[in-house]
Amino acid sequence: MSGLVEGRTAIVTGAGQGIGLAIATLLSEQGARVALVDLDADRVKQAAADLGGPALGLACDVTDEAAVDRVVRETVEEFGGLDIHVNNAGITRDASLRKMPVEDFDAVINVHLRGTWLGVRAASAVMRDAGSGSIVNISSLSGKSGNPGQTNYSAAKAGIVGLTKAAAKEVAHKNVRVNAVQPGLIRTAMTEAMPPEIFAEREAAIPMKRAGEPREVAGAVLFLASDLSSYMTGGVLEVGGGRLM
Ligand code: NDP
Repeated sequence: MSGLVEGRTAIVTGAGQGIGLAIATLLSEQGARVALVDLDADRVKQAAADLGGPALGLACDVTDEAAVDRVVRETVEEFGGLDIHVNNAGITRDASLRKMPVEDFDAVINVHLRGTWLGVRAASAVMRDAGSGSIVNISSLSGKSGNPGQTNYSAAKAGIVGLTKAAAKEVAHKNVRVNAVQPGLIRTAMTEAMPPEIFAEREAAIPMKRAGEPREVAGAVLFLASDLSSYMTGGVLEVGGGRLM
């Protein structure tokens, strides 16, 4: 049986670890050629080699306009097109409003919002010409509810939803779809950095009573990337075990 994205080409940013690596792995298992993009060249090249299938590891800072355009260009040159683009790279710089330096506000807005916008712009240009494509942006339930200590991150993740919907309306007539996923509490390096008592408190508040695994987010991304979601655009899928429903 062929995979859900057999023969398609995908780019995944922030694919060196965590949710991005799980997305790249699942897309590859389902038949895609995948360009894994991250800040650390060695890590991402190793991750690409470990996938086994056709894959590329490309170093890129998603806030760098020229670098994002180059990644899309190199992927198209190597694999002959671009069908799926996942904007997943992310950082946190948590602090209360009283303590957060403006640099930490700017850094988080830049990686999530500018990075996602650059990715959407570059990928949609190729997909419009081809007359098909699926872009998936990783937002967060923090962008739905607002988390104290995360005014920067919550603003960026809510902004990704607005960006997703506006872009979806611009490119829908070219058969290019743009959707978002809002994960809840997922077990990765990002959440391992949280104080254990806060993690436990958040986990206890989840109706399913557990944190999610990166692969459970990847499943929603695969659905949006594949033809199973062919009539969905501008949508937001929550992957949070019932949290903040
Ligand atoms: P990780 O920190 O485990 O992975 C994020 C990856 O993004 C890292 O490999 C990181 O590289 C890379 N990255 C950071 N900045 C840049 C940049 N400027 N350019 C390119 N790559 C960059 O995080 P997660 O896997 O947990 O998160 C993935 C996405 O999911 C993020 O957008 C996050 O906000 C979102 N999310 C996560 C949730 C969770 O509970 N974990 C919940 C909701 C959303 P490096 O390590 O070298 O910095």
